[in-house]
This record gives sequence, C-alpha cells and structure tokens, in this order.
Amino acid sequence: MKRSFKGLKGGAPNDSYDAVIIGAGIGGLICANLLAREGLRVLLTEQHYMVGGYCSTFRRRGYTFDAATHFYPLLGNSGTITGKLLQELGIRTEWVKMDPVDHFHFPDGSSFSVPADFEPYLAKLKREFPDEANNLDQFFEVVREVYLLGLLCYFRGHDTDRLGPYRDMTVREALDRSFRNEKIKLLLAGDCGHWGSPPSRTSFVFDSMLRLSYFLGNYYPRGGSQAFADELARRFEELGGQILMRSLVRRILVNKGSACGVEVETEAAGGLESLRKLRPSHPCFLTYFGLRDMPVEVLREAEGYYWDSWDSDQVATSAFKIFVPTLFEPALAPSGGQIVIVQKLTDLDYEAMIDWTAHKLTIEQYIITNLERRIPGLQEKIAVKLSASALTSHKYTLNHHGAMLGWEMSPDQLGSKRPDVVGPIKNLYFVGHWTQPGGGITPVIVSAMRAAEMITRGRNVAPVEAAALAGANADELNPRQSG
Ligand SMILES: Cc1cc2nc3c(=O)[nH]c(=O)nc-3n(C[C@H](O)[C@H](O)[C@H](O)COP(=O)(O)OP(=O)(O)OC[C@H]3O[C@@H](n4cnc5c(N)ncnc54)[C@H](O)[C@@H]3O)c2cc1C
Repeated sequence: MKRSFKGLKGGAPNDSYDAVIIGAGIGGLICANLLAREGLRVLLTEQHYMVGGYCSTFRRRGYTFDAATHFYPLLGNSGTITGKLLQELGIRTEWVKMDPVDHFHFPDGSSFSVPADFEPYLAKLKREFPDEANNLDQFFEVVREVYLLGLLCYFRGHDTDRLGPYRDMTVREALDRSFRNEKIKLLLAGDCGHWGSPPSRTSFVFDSMLRLSYFLGNYYPRGGSQAFADELARRFEELGGQILMRSLVRRILVNKGSACGVEVETEAAGGLESLRKLRPSHPCFLTYFGLRDMPVEVLREAEGYYWDSWDSDQVATSAFKIFVPTLFEPALAPSGGQIVIVQKLTDLDYEAMIDWTAHKLTIEQYIITNLERRIPGLQEKIAVKLSASALTSHKYTLNHHGAMLGWEMSPDQLGSKRPDVVGPIKNLYFVGHWTQPGGGITPVIVSAMRAAEMITRGRNVAPVEAAALAGANADELNPRQSG
C-alpha cells in the first residue's frame, strides 16, 4: 500500500527532540500534530510498519479491511470540538455520514434502526413502545443532563457536585431504574459491545456522552481507517515532525527523575504499580470477509448488532456485530465485491489460553454458522476470509491482553481512578485509551489535546487548543439543539 507519508525508513533520527511520542495510534498522531504545530521538534516512534494502531487497515487479494475501528463520531462535524480540531490541524480526510447510525436485531427476529437525528429517534422509540413514552422522556432528560455534566467533568476537568448521583451509575442501573420492558432495555444497550464490557460494568455517564454524540454525526473516513491515520502522519511530517517506523521502544530513559529519552529501562515502573489493580476491557474477535457477487441490499439489511439473549450483560457470549464498510466506501473492494466485518467480544483468560488456533477456529465457526443463518448462501460468495483474536490485536498494537478499549470503562475506573495524562515522572505524559478520560476515538483525541496543552503550556507558545477545549459552548454540543 502506498503511504502518503515518508517515515525515516531506517535513516538515523536526530540527536535530540523537544518531545518523543511512543506509538502512532490516534492518540499519538493527534498529540504529535499538536506539538509540531506549536513549533516543537517531535519524533513519533511506532513498532509496527503502519501507523494508526486500532485505526489501521490491511489488504488481501484486492479487499481492504479495517483492522478494528469503524465508527468515528463527530469527526466530520466541524461544529464539534474534535471535528473543529481536525479542520484547524489541516487534516483533509473526507467523512461519510452514517444514516441510520445503527441497527439492532433482537432474539425474537424483530429489528430496529437508529436514525441519525435525535427527534426522529425518540419519536420512533415512542411509536414502538407507547407505554414507555413518559419513561423515555424522563430517561433522555437525564441522559442529556449527564452528557453535558460528563463533558465538563471528564473532558474539560471541571468537576461538579451535580454529577454526584450519576458518577458511579452503570448503564444497567440506569436502564433498570427507568424501564421494566426487557426489549426496550436491550434496545437502549444494544450497542454496548463497543464498550468492550457489559452494561453492568460500563459507566452511564460515558455511555450518555457517546449515545448523544451520534446525533451530532457518526462518520466513516473516505478510503477507510488507514486513510485517516495516514493523513494524520502526512500532516505531521509536513509540520516538520519525524516518524520512526518499525521501532519498538523498550525503555524510557530517565535523568534526575525526568523522562529524557527512549532507550534505557527506567525505574518508572514503581510508579505504575496501581495499574495492576485495574481491569482491561474485553478483547474483540474479528472475522473479515471479502465477498463476490453479493447483492448490496442483502448486506444493508443484515448490518447491525445481533442478540441471542434479552440480557445485555451477555454481550460477550450472546451478541455480535456485522459491519459492511463497502456501504460507505465501495472502493475498498474490487469491482462487484463487498466487505463484511464481524466483531464479537470475547471473555477469555488471556494468560491461561494455551491453544490460540483452536480458540480462533471455534469462534470463527460460531460466526460463520450465525452469518449463514442471517445471510443464506454467504459461504459460496466468500473470496477472502481471515480472523483476528486477542492475540492478533496484541501482536499488531501491543495492547495489553488485546483489550479493545484500554481499561474497562466502568465507573470505578474513570476520572482520577484511571491513570492521568501526566505520568509519574517529570516530562512523561500518557495519551490514548489507557489513560483519562478513556477509550474510543473521541476520548483518545481529548487525551492528546490535554497532553499537548500541558507540554506546551510551560513554553513560550500559545496553549494548544485551550480555547477549543475549555471554551466550547455547552449548547453547541447539545444534540437536541443541533439536530
Ligand atoms: C475491534 C475494535 C473496534 C473498535 N471500534 C471503535 C469504533 O468504531 N469507534 C471508536 O471510537 N472506537 C473504537 N474502538 C476503540 C478505539 O479503536 C481505540 O480506543 C483507539 O483507537 C485507541 O487509540 P490509542 O492511540 O490509544 O492506541 P492504539 O490504537 O492501540 O495505538 C497504539 C500504537 O502504539 C504502538 N506502540 C505500542 N507500544 C509501542 C512501543 N513500545 N514502541 C513503539 N510503538 C508502540 C502500537 O503499535 C500502536 O500503533 C475499537 C477497538 C477495537 C479493538
């Protein structure tokens, strides 16, 4: 695949930099751009031969598959903090808006599509569940409030007592409190697979933030995930940054308690002891299909989350998701071809796993059997098929246990209970989904903005994105008003 950026290609890096960033995931790439834009001399190191981490793609026989991420909330909407940031950084990625946003297929064979605008969504819910109309109004009233308070607290660092009743609440508790009907509860948690944890262990505050952000636009990058990551890398080089590919940073060099390089093992590990008590999110198993001669309408119908249980806490055993990227970007497949990607959370003991091959075959078989039920004749149309387990995720991105979203996004692992952007030693900062505010593209970008701001704040340059981070009008972020 032709890269739109050069990378150092084995050439020697400079003797010194103002900042070294380890890992070219979206967190590292955004932070690298922000620092380079402020005139810092920045080196970005990446152990893989591609940038993007969980936002990369791979190719097989003419088909281009997103390795992991496929929903990019807000990024195509320049009226939002993160959409505006990309525009200000000069990122030229084009975004395809998703409408409907999601589909759910229930155990009784019924299904529900989520429209891209909030009012039609709420009206549709009320039509489907007329007895729950009042409960729905009350529930979304709370969701809206929590969404704004959550943004203030977790994204902008302004804590407020008003968040008190909701801070420790899980999605499950919020739904049980508001509804009795099992179907509406599953519908409102039907997409919980993207949290990498069941609703009883997922923060209601973060779920509310994501739920409403979809109505400000949910996007897919033209050209696939790699096109976005490559564009970030290209722009970073244009700003004078350097990228060192295929370079695993094994140690961080520390001098007088301050991080100053990336070669020698540091004593920083002592400061990271508390991390061992945190739980990682589940890994996500993926099977990638390149199809021939499959009618697009069949796939449009088949897209979405499938549930075999009414209990959304069974997400790692009784649910999977079908995503069809060629509905948004046909150029990812050869002419007449389609791509189907199936995602399934897995609940496994990573350390105890002995036979990864057998594990892979078992889950793959489960997926194929289920797909064949939903898309009869699928097997005859397969031109390419590959699967990725937790081991594969770890191999390509080094994510601990192949976790999908960093530390689980449960209330007891958020805020100050999650590792801070500021590391335990001077000049060491963390970005990405293992740090605050959390996992998913939007929180990861926010972590990069925070780190860049902290790094540049002490220097004689304007704070990066301080205005965007602190000054966005809450109403601008309220999907009800923005439609
Ligand atoms: C299957 C799946 C689907 C997902 N879908 C979505 C979605 O639709 N929408 C959404 O918002 N989020 C989604 N997510 C979550 C999202 O992808 C992640 O939260 C986000 O991409 C994490 O970005 P990051 O920068 O923290 O790290 P990563 O993407 O993990 O990148 C880390 C990078 O650092 C490199 N690296 C690590 N250690 C070293 C080292 N020592 N030396 C050099 N390089 C190193 C790795 O190779 C990698 O490139 C999904 C995740 C998965 C697994």
